[in-house]
Amino acid sequence: MELENSIALFTKGQKHLVGAVNSPVRAFKSVGGVPLFIDKAKGSKIYDVDGNKYIDLVLSYGPMILGHRNKKVEKAVKKALKKGTTFGASTKGEIKLAKMVCDAFPDMDKVRFVNSGTEAVLSAIRLARAFTGKNKIIKFAGCYHGHSDALLVAAGSGLATLSIPGSKGVPKEAVKNTLIAEFNNIESVKKHLNKHKDVAAIIIEPIAGNMGVIQPSSEFITDLNDLTKSSGVLLIADEVMTGFRSKFGGAQELIGLKADITCLGKVVGGGFPVGAYGARNEIMEMVSPLGDMYQAGTLSGNPIAMACGIATLKELKKQNPYQQFEKTATKLEHILLDAAKKYGVDVQVNRFGSMINPFFTKEKVIDFKTAQTCDTDKFKKFFWKMIENGVFLPPSQFEAWFLCTKLNGKDLKKIEIAVGKAMERIGSK
Ligand SMILES: *Cc1c(COP(=O)(O)O)cnc(C)c1O
Repeated sequence: MELENSIALFTKGQKHLVGAVNSPVRAFKSVGGVPLFIDKAKGSKIYDVDGNKYIDLVLSYGPMILGHRNKKVEKAVKKALKKGTTFGASTKGEIKLAKMVCDAFPDMDKVRFVNSGTEAVLSAIRLARAFTGKNKIIKFAGCYHGHSDALLVAAGSGLATLSIPGSKGVPKEAVKNTLIAEFNNIESVKKHLNKHKDVAAIIIEPIAGNMGVIQPSSEFITDLNDLTKSSGVLLIADEVMTGFRSKFGGAQELIGLKADITCLGKVVGGGFPVGAYGARNEIMEMVSPLGDMYQAGTLSGNPIAMACGIATLKELKKQNPYQQFEKTATKLEHILLDAAKKYGVDVQVNRFGSMINPFFTKEKVIDFKTAQTCDTDKFKKFFWKMIENGVFLPPSQFEAWFLCTKLNGKDLKKIEIAVGKAMERIGSK
């Protein structure tokens, strides 16, 4: 396949961009080779600068749940654009999107819009600390909550399961209040709560998506609810990835998680930079200008981003694609398992709603440790075979694949053929 133009841009881009990318996941480091440069996208397809066409299962890491260039969304954005791009004052759209979001989540009276998932989460942590007057937070190994200092610990693939910074430049002091527990292991949470009285919040991805897709057990969720309620610790649901993805609202309802604060991003902006955090009045009234927890943003609630978010949520509500996602994901699971069996590949397929991914391991994947048993070399080969056969996947074993409403039967057929060839490449049969 031709990747000449991507190769040329990758070389050129190195000069004034760090690694020719603006986010490291795009650099293809864990799969090797040259990252694709994208020209355009439409519906379920994405096109690189060499004119290669792919079925897009990256979908910008989640936001493009309606596929690319949805007509209604595009129209709403164009309309907003004509009125100006930013005003530094409030607009009607913010109120509208706020109502849509609050209506979609249980126990969310108010919401604050920000510009990214990272910002949403770091603000939610500050809010939990302001509300409880406590300092420590508990996070789970393998869960990713953005790149703010305090949360760059054991944050998905590659970072150790210790309270040590997962990045250079993060001072020890910045993570000394971050405690790490194991996903699906309530004892690891209890241990911290018994030892530390200064815990403000527990933060969790309701369905983990940043170490591959991992579901919590229902006992784990029930125990987390009980523990937090009985100890006065706030429960923060980081639904930046899962929000509006498995239902219109959050995964927290589907699994029975009783969150005090919810963080959003990705789908809520429909492809524009939007993040949000919300909670019941009692908590949100701590936030400035009502309260003394300061958090601000020049472009927060940007009118074009709001228009895009509103149009995206409206379409989602109308189309209600969630049952269809379940069906498509089930089919994709079978495609993966059948091909793996045929060619002798050890694989586990985890999925939830419109998130799915195969783990190349014999072990059932239930937490960060078991995720790490994967053969990432196999994934690398699998990935490039999929690219060659016209399927764009996230370039990491530990990223979820996403489905969009535009993915059709024909696309699935193509995916099936590609999966067959990719499994054949790495199989023992
Ligand atoms: C993507 C993601 C974030 C970070 O959002 P950005 O918009 O990339 O800053 C935080 N939490 C979760 C669960 C995510 O998936």
